[in-house]
Amino acid sequence: MKNIEVNKFKLYTGRDLTQGIAMERDGKFGEKYLDAVSYIEMNPIDIERLGISDRCRVEGKYGHIVLPVKASDSVQEGTVFIPMGPWANILVDPETESTGMPKLKGVDVLILPTEEEITSLKDILRRYGVKEFDIQPIDRPLKAGETCIVKDVVCTFCGELCDYLEISLEGERIKRVKGGCAISNAKLLNYHRHRILKPMIRSDDGKLREATLEEAIEKTIEILSKSKYPLLYGWSNTSTQATEIGIELAEVLGGVIDNTTVMCHGPTALAAQEVGTARATLGLVKHFVDVIIFWGSNAVHAHPNHFARWIIPEGKIVKGRKERKIIVIDVRKTATAKQADIFIQIEPEKDFELVTALRMLLKDIEIETDNVAGVSLDKLYELIEIMKTARYGAFFIGMGLTMTGAKFRTIQELIKLAHDLNEWTRFVMIPMRGHYNVTGSNEAMLWSSGYPYSIEFSRKFPRMIPGFTTTPDLLMHGEVDAALIIASDPVAHFPQKAIEHLSKIPVIVIDPKWSLTTTIADVIIPTTMMGIESEGTAYRMDGVAIRLRKIVEPPEGVPTDLEILKKILEGVMKERGLM
Ligand code: SF4
Repeated sequence: MKNIEVNKFKLYTGRDLTQGIAMERDGKFGEKYLDAVSYIEMNPIDIERLGISDRCRVEGKYGHIVLPVKASDSVQEGTVFIPMGPWANILVDPETESTGMPKLKGVDVLILPTEEEITSLKDILRRYGVKEFDIQPIDRPLKAGETCIVKDVVCTFCGELCDYLEISLEGERIKRVKGGCAISNAKLLNYHRHRILKPMIRSDDGKLREATLEEAIEKTIEILSKSKYPLLYGWSNTSTQATEIGIELAEVLGGVIDNTTVMCHGPTALAAQEVGTARATLGLVKHFVDVIIFWGSNAVHAHPNHFARWIIPEGKIVKGRKERKIIVIDVRKTATAKQADIFIQIEPEKDFELVTALRMLLKDIEIETDNVAGVSLDKLYELIEIMKTARYGAFFIGMGLTMTGAKFRTIQELIKLAHDLNEWTRFVMIPMRGHYNVTGSNEAMLWSSGYPYSIEFSRKFPRMIPGFTTTPDLLMHGEVDAALIIASDPVAHFPQKAIEHLSKIPVIVIDPKWSLTTTIADVIIPTTMMGIESEGTAYRMDGVAIRLRKIVEPPEGVPTDLEILKKILEGVMKERGLM
């Protein structure tokens, strides 16, 4: 009998800087992006122990893939890392255990040496049920013109919403970007590339054909009106004004509106609803915070300007990086961990235990073991002492914390730790948000319905029931019969089981660029690039509202998200006799 114990590993998924750059520069079907999300990182000791050559077979409960292997000391023995994307989707655990959030970290997998072919994107899309692979990315034609400098441009990539970028324009072409990180440079310099410029409708033969905007909107209205229980998903890469129209549309349809929080900081939002929060703006962090703890967050890769903007510069009270202590708590030795003064590498799935132990030490409760979560008790005493004696402390938390086993219970415990610490000093917790306006989408849903995401209107009033109205559960259980996807790409990020259902129902995609979700779409409506070709409001990760500017005119005939949604809402209301 094969000894599979030695092949058992814990899989961690996460974002990576190269992935963001490649996606913006070469598009999601470009070789560089695909290379950036289709590898597995393993500790060299494990590679040697298992006799792996250049690739391995990764088997999970729901499927298997073959990937090239990269050796890395950053991952602990017994754990592996795969960047978030189509390959990781095959392996992640779709079960949400009534929390609404699938398990994206600490997933049980078997790793086996193999000589099999590397799994290709086409193989994966075929498993999702994609029959035709007919994406047609084109570059938007750019008008020539004068050279000019535009100041105070906002980068619409991550939740940092850096709002001080200076760009050089030559006509409609962005020639240079000052102040941005590598991802924003890739996004702005290539905003015109890999675009969808014409609406598309899938014909009976399964192929996409060009349509007029009126036809595409009409088809959308028809699909949504016929649907008994539609899902309106995404909303994190568009304006807050567009989200507000989306909420109205969901209410009229008696369907569900959900944003990408369900796949990232859902546990943080749920925990805050249970025990409150301890928040601050990033400006306060820059001026006052002298102890910063990144917990399960790889800011250097996911929010590349974070250090340069809030940690290295001199604040009014704290005089820059030299006066700040940076601590990183993570399972992997990430790029952020390499910047830290103290790195605490914890055992997989043990965050809850570690936070509880810290709360116990703060309350002088004895711990009858010399090691918690792989961290020595001496180290824990040192850590709690640093927290207690901070002038002002801040936890920056990421998906490394939200997506592990205990999910929102871990975040609840961390918020309680921040509350406890506020009896000694000042301590706050700020979630590191991924999509640039996921916070705004939460805000709009909160002020309209009282719930931050996963809201359904089938009973004519808003309800949010984690495990029932949450998108992964709705898709897994085949509850919804049509979907409108706007400003997000669930096929790139959802577990395979959820995508399988999505590919069986009518799907409308509203997006400026080709995404993996367009491969299963029945209607595609092109839209403008927010913050470049259209304006609106977005909310930074700390809840500060920022106005996004229009820098260049949109491509001819391409409407904004807001214009498209208003037309759809109007059409659906007419269908239902409400206008
Ligand atoms: S840190 Fe985020 S918002 Fe700031 S420039 Fe980079 S990608 Fe854009």
